Amino acid sequence: MNNGYHPHPMSFSLHGLAVSQGIAIGHAHLVSHATLEVARYTVRERDIPREIERFETALATVRNELGVLHAEAVTPGSPSELAALVNVHAMFLDDPLLAEVPKDLMRERRCNAEWALVQQMELLVAQFEEIDDSYLRERKHDIVQVVERVLRVLLDKPRRLGKRGGYSELVIVAHDLSPADTIQFKNLKIAGFVTDLGGATSHTAIVARSLAIPAVVGLHHARPLVREGDLIIVDGTRGVLIVDPGERVLEEYQLKKRELELERSKLKRLKTARSATLDNVDISLQANIELPQDIVQVKEAGADGVGLFRTEFLFMNRDTLPGEDEQFEAYRLVAKALAGKPVTIRTLDLGADKTARALHGTERQSPNPALGLRAIRYCLAEPQLFLAQLRAILRASHVGNVQILIPMLAHVTEIEQTLAMIEQAKQQLRERRCKFNEHIPVGGMIEIPAAALALGALVRRLQFLSIGTNDLIQYTLAIDRTDEAVAHLYDPLHPAILRLLSHVIQTAQKAEIPVAVCGEMGGDPKLTRLLLGMGLRQFSMHPTQLLEVKQQVVMADTEQLSAKVSRLLRLDEPERIRELVERL
Ligand code: PEP
Ligand code: MG
Repeated sequence: MNNGYHPHPMSFSLHGLAVSQGIAIGHAHLVSHATLEVARYTVRERDIPREIERFETALATVRNELGVLHAEAVTPGSPSELAALVNVHAMFLDDPLLAEVPKDLMRERRCNAEWALVQQMELLVAQFEEIDDSYLRERKHDIVQVVERVLRVLLDKPRRLGKRGGYSELVIVAHDLSPADTIQFKNLKIAGFVTDLGGATSHTAIVARSLAIPAVVGLHHARPLVREGDLIIVDGTRGVLIVDPGERVLEEYQLKKRELELERSKLKRLKTARSATLDNVDISLQANIELPQDIVQVKEAGADGVGLFRTEFLFMNRDTLPGEDEQFEAYRLVAKALAGKPVTIRTLDLGADKTARALHGTERQSPNPALGLRAIRYCLAEPQLFLAQLRAILRASHVGNVQILIPMLAHVTEIEQTLAMIEQAKQQLRERRCKFNEHIPVGGMIEIPAAALALGALVRRLQFLSIGTNDLIQYTLAIDRTDEAVAHLYDPLHPAILRLLSHVIQTAQKAEIPVAVCGEMGGDPKLTRLLLGMGLRQFSMHPTQLLEVKQQVVMADTEQLSAKVSRLLRLDEPERIRELVERL
């Protein structure tokens, strides 16, 4: 892989990690949290008028920029969302709360314009967060974005609007994006994104796949080299970013993009097809979701249920934690929409790269967060928080076919403590006369090698298993899944991984408890035949990947695959394994 860049008088390309397939063509929108961390410095009394003038000039510059953007956005064929977005930004820019109050701050505190603006922005954002109406509350992001525009001018980073019209789609370019940042794209019309940091199975990449927007991470130099408004192409399949493409390249990509769209629409025919192999073995294809709104895609894909609800996303981007009732409402929505199909709700898996602002301050700074107090370890250390979530899940079990999934198990004691807490939550609900399913199934994620290797004690205490290959690979190969520097070593086909997977699947089958794969391997159509050959009968993945995997399922013969895969499992030469997997 080549992470270098190839300058060209006009056009250049960068290579990174392909994390979410497809092609996006649009104008770059630079996002940076770093710009918001502005320094404070004291301005001499007599220089204050000049500082205020600097601020006003920056506002005027941004007002002009927004005018140009608006003119572009209202041309026929542009999505109406963009014009609306620009309007909201213009409105905030002219609001005295942003345009005037910072000047008062500058006068009173003799501080620089950037600092005054950020102070006021933080105050406004905090006020917006108090608003009950979720639509209005979310407008705080618009405040941040418009402030970012002003800051960029103040910090002397002029924005350059794209020279070539016709592309009103926005492609986010960032140094890094947290999963919490990325999940916010769900509500915006973003064509794609690229980042300088990040690994292929980081949660940021996972969210991109769940949004079905093309993304490339680990580009190293995109943020400093791409300018605001540059026309860019994101090839999320090959992991390439092309900046300011020539006409020929642009046409080629437009064609490819249309072809891909056509392929996707053809796949839709499979939606109602029975998910079974050629030798008549039923295969359950379920969906991974992050937020209740994802059920729209779950239904569109015709999934057999929700195999993984990553509930921690309900806890992100907010200053207060969702309480029992709010969580119940989210789980109830999903359970009801799935109308009797299984809904596997994973308890809070916070920690490592998934952080919740509301917990900042109480969270201990972990020297190595991936190995720290995350997921079930964190929940057991915070019993009140955990009990509230368990009660919310239990209450939703009255409405649909809900089951509880526990992340990051390694010790029998963790299961026992968790089961005791579930019993305690049930007792609390009985006292409140709340209804729930007394026999709610409780399963465990197998994502730590220790759990995979000492499975006997786990299967005796749990009703189902779900293999989290993302973490299983991370912990088996000692590769930080968010670190692009070691991303090339992150290998799902490493013989150690294949043996662990096969062992877990077989042990679960012997114990006669269901086992699924809900990590990214489960949604990779190139690995479907391999997993079927290992005996896997239940897959959970982003809804957008489901039909591609189904296409593999309907062409597979489990008996043939099983014989081939058992031979493959005896190999330990990576190249041979790769070859055989391709030919399965
Ligand atoms: C996994 O680790 O494979 C998994 C499904 O959980 P997450 O990606 O949320 O850590
Ligand atoms: Mg995991």
